[in-house]
Amino acid sequence: MTQTADIVICGAGSIGIAVAYYLAQWGGGDVVLVDKHPPLSQTSAKSGENYRNWWPQPEMCHLMNRSIDLLEGLARESDNVFSLTRRGYVYATMDKTAVLSQTLPLYQPLPVGEIRLHTSSNTANYAPISPNWKGQPNGADILLDRDLIRRTFPHFADGVTAVIHARRGGDLSAQQLGMYLLKQAKRRGVVELRGEVVGFERDAGGITAVCVQTATERQTIHTRTFVNAAGPFAPHINTLLGVDLPIANVFQQKVAFDDPLRVIPRTAPFTIFEDSQTLPWHDDERELLQAEPDYQWLLGNFPGGLHIKADGGENGSWIKLGWAFNQTAEEAVWKRQRLSEFLDIVLHGASRLVPGLAAYFDNVSKPVAHYGGYYSKTPENLPLIGSLGVAGAYICSAFAGFGTMASCAAGDLLADWVCGTALPAYAAAFAPARYQDPAYVAGLAGLEKAGEL
Ligand SMILES: Cc1cc2nc3c(=O)[nH]c(=O)nc-3n(C[C@H](O)[C@H](O)[C@H](O)COP(=O)(O)OP(=O)(O)OC[C@H]3O[C@@H](n4cnc5c(N)ncnc54)[C@H](O)[C@@H]3O)c2cc1C
Repeated sequence: MTQTADIVICGAGSIGIAVAYYLAQWGGGDVVLVDKHPPLSQTSAKSGENYRNWWPQPEMCHLMNRSIDLLEGLARESDNVFSLTRRGYVYATMDKTAVLSQTLPLYQPLPVGEIRLHTSSNTANYAPISPNWKGQPNGADILLDRDLIRRTFPHFADGVTAVIHARRGGDLSAQQLGMYLLKQAKRRGVVELRGEVVGFERDAGGITAVCVQTATERQTIHTRTFVNAAGPFAPHINTLLGVDLPIANVFQQKVAFDDPLRVIPRTAPFTIFEDSQTLPWHDDERELLQAEPDYQWLLGNFPGGLHIKADGGENGSWIKLGWAFNQTAEEAVWKRQRLSEFLDIVLHGASRLVPGLAAYFDNVSKPVAHYGGYYSKTPENLPLIGSLGVAGAYICSAFAGFGTMASCAAGDLLADWVCGTALPAYAAAFAPARYQDPAYVAGLAGLEKAGEL
C-alpha cells in the first residue's frame, strides 16, 4: 500500500507522542505516528515519572524550565489529568563540605531559582513540603542544620549533614500525560500506524518515502519529513539513514514493593542519596560473596545516586527504589533480562540513608515489581533534538533518565525545527551538528578522562 504524509514520526513513546502533539498544535501538517508496539509500552512504561529543573548545565535548566512551564499549562487545561505533584527533589549527603564547596558554587549561577541556606541560626523560612503543584516555592533550600534535617526527614540516618531540597520538581503519571497528548494530537488529525520502520527512499533532495512493515504488508509512505523518536532503537534508524551519532544504551532498573512498616513517610519527596558506598552485608554474606568470583563485585564501591520514593500517593503503601549504577553500554534488545541480585543491592544501599529499610533484608513482601529499561544517552548526557544532516530527517532521542520530564519541551523544540520557527538560544546545545565541531568533540574526551560523565 502507498500513502502520503507531510511528516512521519518513528516511535510512539513519550517523546514521539510529544513531537506529534506539538507538530499538530503548531500546524506542522499531516502526521503519521508509526510504532511497532502499542503507544508508551517500551522505555516510557519504565519511567520513575519524576521531574525537576535542578540540572548542572544551563541549557538543561532552560529545557526543563520550559518543559515544566508546558506541563503546568497542560495540568491547568486538563484539570491535572496526569496527577502532577510538586514535593520537590531531595538530595541527601553525609558530606556537607562537598555541598558548600562544589554544589553551591556550581548551581548558584544557574537558572534554577533562588538558593536559600538554612543553618542553625536561620531555619525559619523553610517552606513546608506540599504535593500541590500550584503556589509552591521555586529554587532550592539547602538544609545544613541537623535538627531541621531530623525534624523534616526523621527516617534519614543520623550521619546526614546536608540536604538539598530542589523545589521545582515532583512527579506525574507518564502514561496519563502521554495518553492525554496522544488523544489531543489525534483530534488534530495525527494518525497512528502499527508497524516497523524498515527503510527509506531518498533522492538528491533528501527523504522521499518511509518504508513500514505492518503485520500484513509493506507500506510505503511518501513524505519529505521524518522524525527519529525510536528511543533505544534510534541508533538503528540512524544507521538506515546513513547517519552516525554517539548514542549508547545502558540498562537501568527499579524495584517496587509494599512498605507495611511505613519506613518511608508517604509525604516524603523523591529522594536521592548522593554518597558512594560499599554495601552493608552481614559478615557471613560477605564471606560467601568473597568466595564466589562472579559475585565479588558486590563487595566493591557503588556510586552515589540511589533513588527512594513513596510510590502511589499518600494513601498508597508501596515504595520504589532505583539505582543507575550500571555503566556498561550494550546493543538494545526488545526484551532484556533483569539482574536477579538487584533487589538485594538496592535495598542494602538504601539502608545506608534510611536505616529502617534494613527491616526488609530477606523479608520483602511479595509481589515485588522489578523492571528495567535503557538509558539511551550521548557521552555528555545531553539529548539529541534537531536536524540529522540528511535533508528532511530529524531526531528527538537520547533522553537517558529524563525523557518524561523533558518530553514537552523536546516535542515543542523539534516542532520548531520542522516548522522552521525561530529556535530558542538553548537549541544549539542539543542539535546533532554539535559533533561536527572539533573543539566540542575534543572537550568530550577531556570530560571522559576526568570521570565527569
Ligand atoms: C528505569 C528508568 C527510570 C526512569 N525514570 C525517569 C524519571 O523518573 N523521569 C524522567 O523524566 N525520565 C525517566 N526515565 C527516562 C524515560 O523513561 C525515557 O527517557 C523516555 O521514556 C524515553 O522515551 P522515548 O519515547 O524516547 O523511548 P521509548 O518509550 O522507548 O519509545 C520508543 C518507541 O519507538 C518504537 N520503535 C523503535 N524502533 C522502531 C521501528 N524501527 N519502527 C517502529 N517503532 C519503533 C518502540 O516500539 C517504542 O515504542 C527513566 C528510564 C528508565 C529506564
